[in-house]
Amino acid sequence: MNILENIPLKDKTWFQTGGPAQYFCEPTTPEEFQQALTFAKDNKLEIFILGVGANILISDEGFQGLVIRPKLIDVNVTESDNDVLVKAGAGVIVADLINYCFDNNILGIEEFSGIPSTIGGAAYINLHYFKCLFSQLLVEAEVIEKETGQLLTVDNEWFEYGYNKSKLLEGNHYLVSATIKLHKATDLEVAYTRGKSDEIIRYRTYRYPSKNTCGSFFRNFHEDEVTEVSNGRKMIYVAYYLDKIGIKGCFSKGDACVSYQHANMLVNQGNATTDDIIQLSRAIQDKVHESFGVIPQPECQFIGFKEYPLREL
Ligand SMILES: Cc1cc2nc3c(=O)[nH]c(=O)nc-3n(C[C@H](O)[C@H](O)[C@H](O)COP(=O)(O)OP(=O)(O)OC[C@H]3O[C@@H](n4cnc5c(N)ncnc54)[C@H](O)[C@@H]3O)c2cc1C
Repeated sequence: MNILENIPLKDKTWFQTGGPAQYFCEPTTPEEFQQALTFAKDNKLEIFILGVGANILISDEGFQGLVIRPKLIDVNVTESDNDVLVKAGAGVIVADLINYCFDNNILGIEEFSGIPSTIGGAAYINLHYFKCLFSQLLVEAEVIEKETGQLLTVDNEWFEYGYNKSKLLEGNHYLVSATIKLHKATDLEVAYTRGKSDEIIRYRTYRYPSKNTCGSFFRNFHEDEVTEVSNGRKMIYVAYYLDKIGIKGCFSKGDACVSYQHANMLVNQGNATTDDIIQLSRAIQDKVHESFGVIPQPECQFIGFKEYPLREL
């Protein structure tokens, strides 16, 4: 496996901003993944695992260390009665897996239609769409331990899943593959579900920007972080606060702008730098703080920054 130097990352993320990776590699097997970890350890390098870059913001200086983009793209299917266990490598694109499942009369993952993600990214953040969570499908996984390079097989409980929460966030393990439980379907059911999947994608395209963004920039609040109450319930939804300060489609810094479709989606209009996006998100934090006394925190992951670039709670 080649370990390349000074590789641009801008074209490998959805925001299309940021500087290069000092080192970059794409392991195609767990053994190559282990080799990459050894290289990083021997050279005392920081590690970042990259998926399709749909939930990250890379600093304009880039990433000093080794960026590993797993090219583990095998899919294996085991059937028993009505259940189907689908084992997919960390580098499999969720949209490709949905189509693979349709082609093989398997259903159960199509609610994630239209969400850009690898299986690795989905397992990391616990991919979610309304009430559907990736953790509801996951049965088993293979992870690699950062320190030792040891390959472990773990079950669902190991991940300690919650909203935007998984054990992978601790950074001590990386996903190699995930086995998810889906179900068999008839041709008719698949035809119906393909239509439903197309409809989800249409709906998402209508509601959200479909390029140069990282999706939801800020996460929802935790109950103990807010006091604002509406209809007798604590307002944890960050979109509530963002809608109230009136920034949709009209608040910008440099070439970064709040989407006209969704107040929680920041968009690179073409020539934005990462710094433009940081300035914009800090200004949004200030506005929410001035109006409501709370500071929204990002869902987007910041990569390659020397200091945390936003305001903390
Ligand atoms: C237009 C748009 C819409 C979106 N809509 C949604 C939505 O509805 N629901 C939702 O949940 N998210 C949504 N997102 C966010 C994004 O799709 C998810 O967070 C997705 O899981 C990111 O996957 P990725 O492969 O791009 O990961 P990346 O963005 O490349 O990385 C994200 C994090 O995952 C880690 N990671 C990636 N692979 C591995 C691995 N193998 N092992 C360990 N860690 C790993 C990375 O290190 C990083 O910390 C949206 C994003 C966009 C751009």
